[in-house]
Amino acid sequence: MTTSAQPDAGATPTCVLCGAVLVSSSIRCQACGMYQQLGARRPNPFTRASLWALAALLAGVYVVALIIVSLAR
Ligand SMILES: [Zn+2]
Repeated sequence: MTTSAQPDAGATPTCVLCGAVLVSSSIRCQACGMYQQLGARRPNPFTRASLWALAALLAGVYVVALIIVSLAR
């Protein structure tokens, strides 16, 4: 799955803030000075697995709250 947010493997790394081409040895952008935390090719954190994990967590909290409310009555 390739989205526009993820750069191609063969593309040169660019700054995530200003889009300037990064020197491969430095972790800091030469143009704007922003540190590239995990590199310019960091993976997208909003994958399908993490979204399902968040949905499961919300459902779990809802069930716990439902049990507490039903026991309090
Ligand atoms: Zn930059």
